[in-house]
Amino acid sequence: MFTLRTLPYALEALEPHMSAKTLEFHYGKHHQAYVDNLNKLIDGTEMADMSLEDIIKLSNKQEDKKAIFNNAAQVYNHNIFWDCLRPANTNMEVPAALLTLINRDFGSLEKMLAEFKLAAMTHFGSGWAWLVKEGDKLKIIKTANADTAILYGVTPLLALDIWEHSYYLDYQNRRADFIDAVFTNLLNWDFAAKNAGL
Ligand code: MN
Repeated sequence: MFTLRTLPYALEALEPHMSAKTLEFHYGKHHQAYVDNLNKLIDGTEMADMSLEDIIKLSNKQEDKKAIFNNAAQVYNHNIFWDCLRPANTNMEVPAALLTLINRDFGSLEKMLAEFKLAAMTHFGSGWAWLVKEGDKLKIIKTANADTAILYGVTPLLALDIWEHSYYLDYQNRRADFIDAVFTNLLNWDFAAKNAGL
């Protein structure tokens, strides 16, 4: 059985860029529901004692396990997402070793963020945009609905939730404003650097 992970900050810590109200629903209702649904779906099955990663891999593209995949992958994606954010306007500096890789693979931090934003903006419907490490190289990818970066042989460094429930309470349909606010004020670069093995 899985439990909802704890948040590494208070519900209001991301304000004004992401409101406590958004976290109450996004973390407290949506993320919780994915955990609860997954538990119900795997109860009494061979998956009941498996790791989240194993459940995701085993249910991926299995027509009869679609609900299990969707809920398991969304639990996993949100587990990462909360760690990709940090309290507003704290530790904003990109660690030097990560910045070196970003400059090498994208030209500059601004160019990487522009590509990240473009991926998030051009994704139609619900999904995720990611900064990932593939081998030694950083790249931007996006996945649809619950689909998750870990199925593509890459290590996620940063995940951005672009489901409407991620921004609608604070930004309504203005996805670009939400992305800009997260990029400018909330990205946890230390978490990204740690995931990159730096
Ligand atoms: Mn979400």
